[in-house]
Amino acid sequence: MDIQTQILKPSGALLLTLDAESQAEFAEEMARPDRTYWGTICDLFESEICNGGFQPFDGGDGNPFVGLTSAPCIAEEMASDEDGKNHISGRLWTFPDYMIRDPFKELAEHGRVTFELVGYMGGPDIPESFPVQPLRTPSEQAAAADLVTCGHFLCGLSWDDGVATGYTPTPAGRCPFEAFHGSEEESES
Ligand SMILES: [Zn+2]
Repeated sequence: MDIQTQILKPSGALLLTLDAESQAEFAEEMARPDRTYWGTICDLFESEICNGGFQPFDGGDGNPFVGLTSAPCIAEEMASDEDGKNHISGRLWTFPDYMIRDPFKELAEHGRVTFELVGYMGGPDIPESFPVQPLRTPSEQAAAADLVTCGHFLCGLSWDDGVATGYTPTPAGRCPFEAFHGSEEESES
């Protein structure tokens, strides 16, 4: 099975397509009683995951930080830490109509389905109690008075520098989330 992924402009939506042969094979796999739903879908994405991108997952299954119920999601990148907790980085897509339509059934039937862009899930986890919160979705970022994005390679978070807190506005080149950047020394211990 060979899945094709394409990020559509300007919405940023993710289009998944299968050629006729892969579509038939995927439909057959989906119908097999000895296969689990997510097992079949992960197989479909195997070549993508090997290339380090596009990881499908159940938004309700151990990923509460996504903030969605049980919508099927696709992450541009996902890694598990030592505690088995998943960390998403890059773009995140979901299928908002999942209660009425099954996106992967649709893919099996029609050979194509589109997932909507939810936002950018990069960077460290910020506690909810922290006075500055990262703006992760396009709509949150569009609403910011003074949007600033950290350039640190372990961060990449955006915030509204137009809101006065104990941390913002930040001096040029600084990031309010520096305490959460972590360091390479710490991650080795
Ligand atoms: Zn930062």
